[in-house]
Amino acid sequence: MRNFVTSLRELFYPAVCLVCNTHLQDITDMHLCENCLDGFRFIHPPVCSCCGDKFISERGVNHLCSTCLTTPYSFSKARSLLSYNDNAAQLIHSIKYGRKTAALSTFNAFWERSGLKQEFCLSDLILPVPLHLERLRWRGYNQALLLADLFFHEQKEKINPFLLTRVKNTPPQTGLKGLERRRNVQGAFAVSHPAQVASKKILLVDDVLTTGTTLNECAKTLIAMGAEDVQALTLARVQYR
Ligand SMILES: [Zn+2]
Ligand SMILES: [Zn+2]
Repeated sequence: MRNFVTSLRELFYPAVCLVCNTHLQDITDMHLCENCLDGFRFIHPPVCSCCGDKFISERGVNHLCSTCLTTPYSFSKARSLLSYNDNAAQLIHSIKYGRKTAALSTFNAFWERSGLKQEFCLSDLILPVPLHLERLRWRGYNQALLLADLFFHEQKEKINPFLLTRVKNTPPQTGLKGLERRRNVQGAFAVSHPAQVASKKILLVDDVLTTGTTLNECAKTLIAMGAEDVQALTLARVQYR
């Protein structure tokens, strides 16, 4: 019976790789062919103990990178599962093209093998980086919230998508340089109920960390409202080394 159901499902929804669209022989929770799976780059220590950027050397312990030493972020720690490359971009995009369930299953498999789960289990609150209401209406979902729900489904009561809000509909950060990026998001976020973040350890969740400007602005806003500590978790991050 199970084989019959699988065959039927195969007939209507042939298993294809989320990155290259080739037909997959077996349905697995990865939804990736071997070749594309090989193309993902997982981030392993040593990394910058604050921003999570990888060091060129594959040996040694985590320590602060030169950027974090000179201009510290408002968050105390950021970590990402993957380096942002073409495969990661394609996988994140596949959410948009009606392949949400398969993509989330892949993200979950990556999360399980990342070793980051234990590092982020002690927050009081888990806040997805918000979209402005207009963009949310246009897109129909916030992928940061999808990821927060997926990674922390066992701590659902801590996830709050309404506490941190985006009050300025800023243009996308893509194509902007350092100072422009900072100006673009300055004052973009607000906290709807400041008493709820006071003295709390907060974890921010987003899809991609590019320069950290957006996460930094969120952290700054939360710290200004009395949060004790802010950390950040993203699916992927742009690697500068
Ligand atoms: Zn493939
Ligand atoms: Zn750093």
